[in-house]
Amino acid sequence: MSKLNSKSIVSLHKKLVKKEITALDLVKEAIENCKHDPCNSLEATCYDEALKKASKITEVKEDEILKGIPYLAKDNYSTKGLETTASSNILNGYVPLYDATVISRLNQKGMILIGKTTMDELAMGGTGTTSHKGVTCNPYDKTRIAGGSSCGSATSLALGFVPLTLGSDTGDSVRKPASYNSLVGFKPTWGRVSRYGLFPFAPSLDCPAYFTRNVLDSAYILSAISGHDSKDMSSSTRKKDNYEKYVKENRTLNKVGYFKAVKDNIKNPIIKAKYEELLSKLEEKGYEIIEYDYPLELLNALYPTYMIISCAEATSNNANLDGIRFGPKPDGDLKTYSDYMIEARTKGFSDLIKRRFVIGSFSLLSENMSEMFSRAQKARRLIVDNLNLFFDSIDYLLVPASYDKPKKISELSTSWSTKPDYLDNIMTLGNFGGNPSLTLPLGYLDNLPFGVNITGRIFEDGYVFALASEIEKITGLKDIVVKEAK
Ligand code: GLN
Repeated sequence: MSKLNSKSIVSLHKKLVKKEITALDLVKEAIENCKHDPCNSLEATCYDEALKKASKITEVKEDEILKGIPYLAKDNYSTKGLETTASSNILNGYVPLYDATVISRLNQKGMILIGKTTMDELAMGGTGTTSHKGVTCNPYDKTRIAGGSSCGSATSLALGFVPLTLGSDTGDSVRKPASYNSLVGFKPTWGRVSRYGLFPFAPSLDCPAYFTRNVLDSAYILSAISGHDSKDMSSSTRKKDNYEKYVKENRTLNKVGYFKAVKDNIKNPIIKAKYEELLSKLEEKGYEIIEYDYPLELLNALYPTYMIISCAEATSNNANLDGIRFGPKPDGDLKTYSDYMIEARTKGFSDLIKRRFVIGSFSLLSENMSEMFSRAQKARRLIVDNLNLFFDSIDYLLVPASYDKPKKISELSTSWSTKPDYLDNIMTLGNFGGNPSLTLPLGYLDNLPFGVNITGRIFEDGYVFALASEIEKITGLKDIVVKEAK
């Protein structure tokens, strides 16, 4: 079981500055942690490279907060010289020639990459069970899901392998698993962090995102990875901020809102009680708590709108996965491009991916376009306009990040729910609007964690950290590591 790496980045940094530990100690221990991988969290690793980098670090200065700290990255970040598969068979053996911008920025700050983590194939899905490496299970109860798609990043952080893991968030892929693993999971404002080198799933929704053990660490990471990148034309040219200052100086805003329909519909009594208790504790602290009537028909539209837009974008973005440019070559005497592609894709993709590509292609067919894709885009506009209306008078939206225990793996079903519950999809709001959104631990249900989620106005990432830090003080839940995976 890990010791050092189960601490926060900030506390490890202090030890490095005082020379109580070295970067090499941290990296050696992180490697040992990774070698014992009880939940199936890891893809390719780069231990030798990491040891080499660590042994070159002889001194860490006060302002070099990330130097010498090990981390892991979800397997959809392009990493130069290190196999990157997005946990898909179709990318087996693919070794990128370049680093994603997030990776190079962390490396420039002296962080040390140890390896890659498992994910739901191509970042589609929310269970952590569709990787080509099999199921990634929940470290709190191995019979249950870890959540996804950033499953391995959540479990490896929860298990204390390293103090930072990178994920990505298109619908809630960091913020939901953060809830199931008692972690801080943050999705920045869309455009605040470059997506260059992050394999696209649905680029209008995709965001580099990550897990840490506490809110201050999360703020430091945003300061390190944000800022304009000429390699990503959608990255913002706005000046970046010192996000950690919002935490340290307690620069929080005052108005916390909740949706009436959400609060009224929380079925689990423990989650409901904890959520209501949090709202009243915030009120005691001087926050104004505001009930808001967000239109129910738009809440019910979240899931279908998300599915159409994300699958349509995914279909078009993954058109390059044809078996020719990347991945293993299909066998047989395949004469035409389409025979070749059909064979590669039939073998390369799991059923979930195939189904989503069918939905995406179907909604983009010219005869269906206006009824499906264009309609979903109009629904998105209404969803975001109404969210912005909320933010005209309220500073934060607070929702539970999950509404029940993580599901039993044996009880997962592949059939589509005909009446999806909007509570399960509420965090997609942050992707539709591009808003910063953070999940942090709130409590436990029979020893299984659940979290609470804060969404703020776009580019007010700092204020989200500030409220999160206040909540962290109220709950007292931070720096949590699973003691022993059952
Ligand atoms: N669960 C969502 C999905 O199935 C989220 C995925 C994500 O954020 N990458 O697509």
